[in-house]
Amino acid sequence: MIEADVIVVGSGASGVQAAWALAEAGHAVALVDVGERDRHYAPLIPPLDFLTLRRTDPDQHRIFLGDDFEGVPFGPVRVGAQLTPPRQYLTRRADELAPVLADDGFAAMRSLALGGLAAGWGAASLPWLDEELADFPFGRADLQPHYDRVAARVGICGASDDLLAVLGPLDPLLPPAPLDSNAAAVLRRYGRRRASFRRRGLHVGRARLALATRPFRGRGPCPLDDMDFWADGARAVYRPRFTVEELEERFPRFRYLPGLFAETFRENTAEQYVELDCRALHDGSRACLRGRRLVLAGGVFGTARVVLQSLGAVGRPRPLLSNAYTYFPALDLNLVGKPVRDRRHSLSQLCMAYDPDGTRRHMVSAQLYSYRSLLLFKLVKESMLSHADSIRVLRQLSDLLVILGVHHEDRPEPGKWLALRPAAEGAVPALEVHHQSSPRTLARQARDERRMRRFLLELGCLPLGAVRPGAGSSIHYAGTFPMRTRGGPLTCTPDGRLRATRLVHLADGSGFPTLPAKGLTLTLMANADRVGRAVAEQLP
Ligand SMILES: Cc1cc2nc3c(=O)[nH]c(=O)nc-3n(C[C@H](O)[C@H](O)[C@H](O)COP(=O)(O)OP(=O)(O)OC[C@H]3O[C@@H](n4cnc5c(N)ncnc54)[C@H](O)[C@@H]3O)c2cc1C
Repeated sequence: MIEADVIVVGSGASGVQAAWALAEAGHAVALVDVGERDRHYAPLIPPLDFLTLRRTDPDQHRIFLGDDFEGVPFGPVRVGAQLTPPRQYLTRRADELAPVLADDGFAAMRSLALGGLAAGWGAASLPWLDEELADFPFGRADLQPHYDRVAARVGICGASDDLLAVLGPLDPLLPPAPLDSNAAAVLRRYGRRRASFRRRGLHVGRARLALATRPFRGRGPCPLDDMDFWADGARAVYRPRFTVEELEERFPRFRYLPGLFAETFRENTAEQYVELDCRALHDGSRACLRGRRLVLAGGVFGTARVVLQSLGAVGRPRPLLSNAYTYFPALDLNLVGKPVRDRRHSLSQLCMAYDPDGTRRHMVSAQLYSYRSLLLFKLVKESMLSHADSIRVLRQLSDLLVILGVHHEDRPEPGKWLALRPAAEGAVPALEVHHQSSPRTLARQARDERRMRRFLLELGCLPLGAVRPGAGSSIHYAGTFPMRTRGGPLTCTPDGRLRATRLVHLADGSGFPTLPAKGLTLTLMANADRVGRAVAEQLP
């Protein structure tokens, strides 16, 4: 039996921020995690920029293709193209320990890694407005101190540009990263017709990223080596494991407990404690932890599994949200015949926020990337030309290739749900997952995409098509036990307590009642800080 004031499950973006708030308040925190790590690739990657590595390293195939060729996608690339061989440990053991059945093809990416999905995330960090939080039991003013605290811990860069009106302030804000040539050209073009774009609801500015552009808490500055999908150069891109390391250094009452798979909890409300049963993965033995509170942050699928199993709610459907995602590969015609800047990071360069009806309630968000370090061979596979021809054409055009990734908001609908399936004695139960948008939602998304495509053309980029990788491909999930002012046992109170319990709080996306189009992770972290503080205040 391991004892702590608070047990937190999950070392992802949500879990580490909740743990920080609790540890900082002086509580003994035990952070339970499966905690898969990459011990293979990180030591193989030399500290070189992408082009030098491509030109000079005779062993580069080991990193770029993978020792088992796991970097070569044999089917169509659906989801997680950024999960290069050095990042594939993120999803290790998920199918074995936490299986999902998605007959209609929903991509439920689950991570059991130290740092969770954010060990490979794209770091786009966009705060939400009051209008986007309209269905939440709190507003932007309540969230602002938590946004700012998280910004001070993880380091968010950006500029006070046209996005300010649709993102709101963040303090501190690190200086923006230098733009690459594509982004600089597109931003110049936007600037020339800014009033017209703004009138039609489009705001364009420098991406806000969890990226240390200057020295920050022992990290950065960003090396601009275009290796961000492969390595954590200068620790510039924020990864939650950095917070675990800081927690271990700064708070003697914090303990990180990897190698444990949390299964069920039970409460003793008379004695005011909760016990968490876990499986120790190295030998299959049982471990039990006891705390005065339990904070679940296992990611939406991980938390649903623990809650539904613990409450015996097998077969009970819960709502599921995930932003619809479409991307437009395009050629940046602004740059034809012009030299390009080689030093760059690989993350999104510009952010576009489109407000279709002027209410800010149904915004569409998009991130503009230059396509280079994810390697051209993946595009060759998708091309209609012969292999040799497409390599020749793509080499000529590679400097002009950009990708605009567009996210739509998501709201509960009858076709979007998950449930825990009954399993035979001793078998691991699977989560059944469905996510089908109504025709009305699909029609709205199609309309907004037509407009984004037109904007892209007006910004000097020629769209080559639209790729819809399918439901779940945004890797943004939420909504299973929504926070409401009032609600049933499988909803949460505004401070994240699961109503069916007295001592269990949810600190990840499970509690979000809707999902605005802007990526959720910054808000996950701010909310986890908020929930962590609320729990800390309830304890003596
Ligand atoms: C390639 C990629 C790019 C992305 N880009 C962006 C972006 O630019 N912007 C953005 O906002 N979001 C982005 N995301 C999404 C973002 O990564 C996630 O929203 C975020 O990381 C979720 O964090 P979480 O802590 O809530 O859950 P998770 O990251 O899923 O973490 C779950 C944690 O819980 C642990 N766990 C789960 N179940 C158990 C259990 N039973 N027992 C013990 N431990 C358990 C796991 O080990 C893990 O540490 C991206 C994701 C990916 C994969």
